[in-house]
Amino acid sequence: MNADDAGARAGRTVYRIRWLPGTDRLHASCFCGAQREFEDPVVLWDWLLGHPEGHRPGRAAAQDAPAPAAALV
Ligand SMILES: [Zn+2]
Repeated sequence: MNADDAGARAGRTVYRIRWLPGTDRLHASCFCGAQREFEDPVVLWDWLLGHPEGHRPGRAAAQDAPAPAAALV
């Protein structure tokens, strides 16, 4: 058995949560590449498990984003 990060195989749904030492904050990473910091673990899990709501896809963001002027209406 490989001791490396077995949960990170390509195509797997992996959520990562890291505590930020010296703070009360948690850093969450979604398998889609979205990342965000939280203080409340409940809010963190709501965000992660609510995928893709609130997540920004990494590569497709530039193509799918509306024009900036339209976003400010
Ligand atoms: Zn995601």
